[in-house]
Amino acid sequence: MDTRQDSHVRAGDGAQRIVEALLRPPPLRDEEWEGAFTGTAGSTEGFAFHMRGRLLLGSGLVSGTGRAVDLRTPHDGVSLDGSEEAGAVRVDLWFDEPGVAARPLACDGTLSGDGTRIEGAWTVDCLNPGECDCGGGRGTFALRRVTA
Ligand SMILES: [Zn+2]
Repeated sequence: MDTRQDSHVRAGDGAQRIVEALLRPPPLRDEEWEGAFTGTAGSTEGFAFHMRGRLLLGSGLVSGTGRAVDLRTPHDGVSLDGSEEAGAVRVDLWFDEPGVAARPLACDGTLSGDGTRIEGAWTVDCLNPGECDCGGGRGTFALRRVTA
């Protein structure tokens, strides 16, 4: 047996394993989250709702669907779509409700180190910029992972 050749093959296998580990994305986490969105200024001052739904976190992406449970509309679905990098979360929250579906809440937040909370602030553009000069609105949000 050519031991030199054998060790070369093993080193190659090790390098291949490292490359595969680096290329393999971290596992996606599909979990239930809930929390509050609170308008604090502009057109959304006084506007608030609670959301509950599922968020898919991983590979730098954030996505999910849920319900704005106290929005008092039959179209209370929401969807989220964005990114996460080093704990910085940037996600758009879209409403199904036709009256407010045209603009997302653009959310900027921070994912806690243990991955169980996302907190931050959001802005939303004016829904009728042609006939309104409200300048849009802004607020805060705090989401937490629901542990089973
Ligand atoms: Zn406006």
